Amino acid sequence: MRESVELFLNFAEVTGQTDYDIGIRQQGYLWVTTDERRAGHQRALVEEQHAWGLGDVELLAGDEVRARWPYVTPEVVQARFRAGDGFLDPKALTMGLVASSRAPVVVDCAATGFDVTGGALTGVKSRGTVATEHAVIAAGPFSGVVAQFAGVELPVTTVARHKVVMADLQAVPQSAPMTVDDDTGAHWRPALGGAYLLYTDPATPSSPPTEDVTPDAALAWALLDPSSPVSAARVAPFWKEVWELGAAIWSMQSGFYTMSPDHRPLVGPAGIDGLYVNSGYSGHGIMASPAASRIGVDVLTGRIAPPDNPFRIDRAFDARARDVL
Ligand SMILES: Cc1cc2nc3c(=O)[nH]c(=O)nc-3n(C[C@H](O)[C@H](O)[C@H](O)COP(=O)(O)OP(=O)(O)OC[C@H]3O[C@@H](n4cnc5c(N)ncnc54)[C@H](O)[C@@H]3O)c2cc1C
Repeated sequence: MRESVELFLNFAEVTGQTDYDIGIRQQGYLWVTTDERRAGHQRALVEEQHAWGLGDVELLAGDEVRARWPYVTPEVVQARFRAGDGFLDPKALTMGLVASSRAPVVVDCAATGFDVTGGALTGVKSRGTVATEHAVIAAGPFSGVVAQFAGVELPVTTVARHKVVMADLQAVPQSAPMTVDDDTGAHWRPALGGAYLLYTDPATPSSPPTEDVTPDAALAWALLDPSSPVSAARVAPFWKEVWELGAAIWSMQSGFYTMSPDHRPLVGPAGIDGLYVNSGYSGHGIMASPAASRIGVDVLTGRIAPPDNPFRIDRAFDARARDVL
């Protein structure tokens, strides 16, 4: 993540292009809790974070939190905060990286199969066949499907995830940090003069990937209705006023998380000579992919030996507890 952040912070310089501004806003991430037990977890985590070299993560008592962000409810007993965290425009990031690569891009040209001869890749099938000895499967939620074209089973599952978009909402302080209810995982951040709100229910079952993901309106009610146990109003009461006013307009953006068993990326050889994978970002592909893709390039070009690659797809997976975001 730190390598990715370096790229984000120096985007124009690193990419050598100025057409795409990723609009980086370092307003911080604020994780608040109303629960003394979770406060204990936070203290242990912040100690670990300091040991990892993230010395600028602050641990704040409830009153300090409210002094800095008056919208936070009196029930919050503690928070952890890192001022350097922030938001960016993922579309500009993608387009800027594409422009920087100077690689030719052909859209509307789905890969539909692979030619493999003697265990080695010789071509990728699409509208025609592209003769090549190297290809990278980076098809996001469809990576498992595409790998199957070559008879490769990737250890991925796909889970539908949704974001509530509320533009032009005066009640939302636009200088606020990403505010995460550490007890439930519900979170929101300023955007478009209003906010984006998310909640990733760990109980959501996986489902096959589709291009046209059906939005789940129940998620909007879960976040916006103050009587919901995961409502945004639980730690930031102004959301109750938004609900009671009843005038706010919302829409949803929906997609899939491509989950690996340990929620780390899958990057490296796919088991057929010349075929590689770069996927499995488990909901963190904006943050993680610049650095993990650099590792992928180093593996592909021989700068990293496959056994030294932390994201190789044949690693032993340690199952991980829930990711909140
Ligand atoms: C609601 C939501 C919120 C998120 N929030 C965050 C966040 O705050 N921070 C964060 O880091 N991450 C976030 N993510 C996760 C992030 O969006 C993904 O991890 C990231 O987009 C994965 O990038 P990717 O390049 O692997 O896949 P994608 O971005 O999905 O790109 C894959 C590409 O492959 C193409 N493709 C598919 N099939 C084929 C085929 N057969 N042939 C050729 N091309 C094909 C697709 O059209 C697509 O363009 C969020 C995801 C969702 C759904």
